[in-house]
Parts: sequence; structure tokens; C-alpha cells
Amino acid sequence: IHIDYSSGPAEWDTGRRIWEARTMLDCRFLLLYSDNYVPVNIEKLLSVHSASLSAVTLLLQQKQNGNVRLDGDGGVEVYDSTRSTLGLNYVEIGYMIIERDRVLGAYGVSDVSFSRILEKLVKGEQVAGLVSGDSYHSISDLDRLKLTEQYLAVKRVLMIDRDGTINKRAPRGEYIGSWSDFHWDLQTVEAMRQLARKGFRFLVLSNQAGIARGMLKAKMVDEINARMISELRKQGIDVIDVYVCPHHWDEGCSCRKPNPGLF
Ligand SMILES: [Zn+2]
Repeated sequence: IHIDYSSGPAEWDTGRRIWEARTMLDCRFLLLYSDNYVPVNIEKLLSVHSASLSAVTLLLQQKQNGNVRLDGDGGVEVYDSTRSTLGLNYVEIGYMIIERDRVLGAYGVSDVSFSRILEKLVKGEQVAGLVSGDSYHSISDLDRLKLTEQYLAVKRVLMIDRDGTINKRAPRGEYIGSWSDFHWDLQTVEAMRQLARKGFRFLVLSNQAGIARGMLKAKMVDEINARMISELRKQGIDVIDVYVCPHHWDEGCSCRKPNPGLF
């Protein structure tokens, strides 16, 4: 990889940095602030940007007392870095697509705050936003950095079946309809305990066609699962959740294993 860069003193605002780097930038470029991390769908951001014909398309997240207000069509109506305007329900999280020449055209002086540039472009209705549903993680102070490290750390999660794996399967054509029908497979529980000690958590994935067949009540399945989770927790086994396919095998749903919906 070949990387060109422009650097300057810590005091420079993003506005000044873009100005100094202007000859190195493509006519359309992606700007990332370096202190937020969020999974971002670049293709989606690009397609919103192209469709809106904006000078800048921001990635946003819903937040009370943020710095952005949207109009009904995904256009940014207000950008207020002082956060004093009413109805600022989104925050800009530092990932954006930029049309270089249109943004540079908004500069009066080179040493300018990028917030001023955005405010100016918003007044000219040249900024769009894409709302991201993913939560973002910030590394702008040491406490947040710690949380971000936890978020990015490798997580060990085992996805595991229920009937016939964690507990003994019901007789053919029958279902586990109450807690008294639920009999542990102790070998599996022991294996889960050993894995839990190595840092694994568990997601239980279970087909329960008895619900669609009227032989099981969904509420009962939920109660059995809640009891199973609390009993396993006493053994130091953390089940994050139980995902259930309630459909009949004839329904052609996407969540009945071996289809991947529950995954
Ligand atoms: Zn299903």
C-alpha cells in the first residue's frame, strides 16, 4: 500500500486539515474522524449520497440533544455544533462522503472550523444524512477507550441446539411442553461448563414446530427457556438468549434450521 499524508499541529481543526490536503484528495472522498468506531455500509452511504446530489452525506445516529435535525427526506435541515437549537435528534458520527470542490468552494479563509463549513452547506441545503442503526464506540477519552476495547475484543460465543443436545429429546411426535418434561443431558451441561470457564457464552437456537401445530404454547416455551437460562446460570453458564423458530416445517420460513434465519 502507498499512503500519502498531510500533517500539521494538533491545534488545526478538520477544516484546516482538509484545506492543507486538498491537492491530495479525490474529487469525491470519504472523511473519517479518528475517534469514533462504527460498522459502516459504504455502498449504502454512497448510494444515498449519489441520489441526494449533496455536497456532503453524513452518517448519523439517533440521539437526544445531538447536533443535527433532519427534514422528512433525509436532508440535513439544521447542523448546530453548539447543540442549542430545538429538535436536534441526531448526532453526526464522523464518517462522511464529500464532494471536494463543492466543499472547498464554501471556504472563505483556509483556517476554518469544519463545523462552520458544514453549517454553511446545510443552510444551502447541500447536506444529506444516512441514519445508522449500529451503536458507535468512541475513543475520545480513556474510559470510552476501555469500553471500545471490550467491544472490539474477540468474543467467544457458541451457538447450540436445545432439544436432543442440552436436554433429552421428547418422544417422537411430542414436544417439551412443561418444565417437568425437561431433562438435562448432563454430558452437554458439563461440556458447557468447561467452555464457559474458557470464556464462552451461548446462544441457543431451537426449532419448535409444536407451536405452529397447536401442540405447544409459545408462552410455555418462553417459560421453559427462562428456567433453563436461570438453572444454567447457577452453573456459571451464560446463555445470552434463546432464538426459537415457531413455524411449521411446511411454512417455508427462513428461520427453521437448517435454514440460517436464527443465526
Ligand atoms: Zn421459522
